[in-house]
Amino acid sequence: MGGLGSGRYSRKTAVEDCLGIDVNYLNRKGFLEEGCQFTLRWSISRSNWSASISAKAYKDYIVLDYIVEKERELNYSIQLDKVPMNLGGYKNYLRCPKCNSRVEKIYKSSASDYFLCRDCLDLVYRSSKESGDELAKVRRKLDKLYSKLNGKWRGVYSIIPDKPKNMHQRTYLGIRKDIIKQERLLDGLFCMKAEDLIG
Ligand SMILES: [Zn+2]
Repeated sequence: MGGLGSGRYSRKTAVEDCLGIDVNYLNRKGFLEEGCQFTLRWSISRSNWSASISAKAYKDYIVLDYIVEKERELNYSIQLDKVPMNLGGYKNYLRCPKCNSRVEKIYKSSASDYFLCRDCLDLVYRSSKESGDELAKVRRKLDKLYSKLNGKWRGVYSIIPDKPKNMHQRTYLGIRKDIIKQERLLDGLFCMKAEDLIG
């Protein structure tokens, strides 16, 4: 994946740092009804970062539609499995588009363009609650560093800006190094929650 700081993904990514789609949530909202068109949105409170995708439900699959880096539009379907339950009704599952396993949740990490299952993305669960203060501190530093490069830090998917014309190469490399260091710190602190889906 080009453009992102090297080494950022050397550690395992946590489920909590990914965009997640939960089939049970979609079902509760009535989004699995054939023909339903909906938008899924995730955002981080206290910063303006957000991401959203469009989706449409068909009889036994859902089509996801969104833009990734460099305006590349992705459009693909996720198979939907309805397994009859003993007491009537159905239990819903999604099929991971890569390994085809039956899961309740699929995720998109910053290292993957596609929503896949937890195993395919090699995700772990974060065990402890992280301090919000430390998170805010790292975020402020990143805001500052990005603005030095005339850019704006936008959370996990930020791309380090190119060198401003009037800046010395060495200064630029120094700032870049700082940014990568802070982003690595953040990797361990970051906690993102999926917010309400907007129907
Ligand atoms: Zn998979």
